[in-house]
Amino acid sequence: MDAEAVFFTPWDPYVNMLTKARKLYEAANLFSVIEKGDLVAVKLHMGELGNPNYIRPFFIKQIIDLIKARGAKPFLTDTSTYYPLERSNAFDYMETALANGFGFAPLIIADGLNSENAIPVPSPDPILPEVEVAGVIHQVQAMIVVSHLKGHPLTGYGGAIKNLGMGCVSKKSKLAQHRVVDIEVDEELCQACGSCVEACWFGLPRIENYKATMADHPQCMRCLNCSSACPAGAIRLVGRSRLGMAVAVAAAAVLSTFSEHKVAYINFAHDMSTFCDCVPFRGKPVGPDLGIFAAFSPLSIDAAGLQRIDYQHLDQLHDTDCLIQPRYLARLNQAGSLEPKVVEI
Ligand code: SF4
Ligand code: SF4
Repeated sequence: MDAEAVFFTPWDPYVNMLTKARKLYEAANLFSVIEKGDLVAVKLHMGELGNPNYIRPFFIKQIIDLIKARGAKPFLTDTSTYYPLERSNAFDYMETALANGFGFAPLIIADGLNSENAIPVPSPDPILPEVEVAGVIHQVQAMIVVSHLKGHPLTGYGGAIKNLGMGCVSKKSKLAQHRVVDIEVDEELCQACGSCVEACWFGLPRIENYKATMADHPQCMRCLNCSSACPAGAIRLVGRSRLGMAVAVAAAAVLSTFSEHKVAYINFAHDMSTFCDCVPFRGKPVGPDLGIFAAFSPLSIDAAGLQRIDYQHLDQLHDTDCLIQPRYLARLNQAGSLEPKVVEI
């Protein structure tokens, strides 16, 4: 298994992409990470309700069938969100997954009914003191991480690294990652309009003496809702790039729970938009459908995808640096390359 190699099949509007996907997985020998009898987590984001930009269920069904053909036991999995939308506990997530077409395989929400099933593991970097890995992810023998490449307002982009670091941990660890970023209000600019209070999931900002205050409430997840709603531009996040670092650190911690050569990655680069699958709208398109990537390293597969999309546009739009996640993962001595060898199928 060459961690520096990435297999790629371009999107062809006149060819059945299921056929191309199958050839891609075969060429990469991707499912060699799976042995007969393994419990295999197929880790993916099954889409927030209302946002049509998530991986088509038939691609996932094909992956499930190919894993079963190896005599293993695959199931779909993801974790609950910290923010209170349609996937914030196991019940709501399962209803959303069914509505989005993921009713063809067993589905296990990896961190329990309300994120109580998580196991702390040591963090490889002081930016996070520890990482709580979802209990089910901690227990499986093998994992196929299937990610939709797209933009993200806080980390610039989302792909395999974010699917691991943010997607395989408890709500507590999700919050800890977000809170490596700071938030501040410019009192000179604040007009005490109250829009930030209305926009916050949890109603956290307070208006005191005709000014908004962001007294550092432990529930605040640095989500940008208040900042985006502020007509005066008075609220800003400080040190946003630290979130990409924290995501990479959490990804490395998740991987530390697996034996060597037991995790493989597939990135789908279609229906890419400026916003992530985690919001109930898709934002604007980011370039044409590119294709499907397969690899044995989250670092290599994300780097290969970023080489082919206009990530500078995402950096500008979201005031972020998309390259931080792969660069920081490389700094943590994870296998893979920032300039992977791409083999086109
Ligand atoms: S960043 Fe703003 S909107 Fe988001 S949780 Fe914190 S106070 Fe609320
Ligand atoms: S939305 Fe902006 S201007 Fe309005 S109260 Fe909040 S910080 Fe002040």
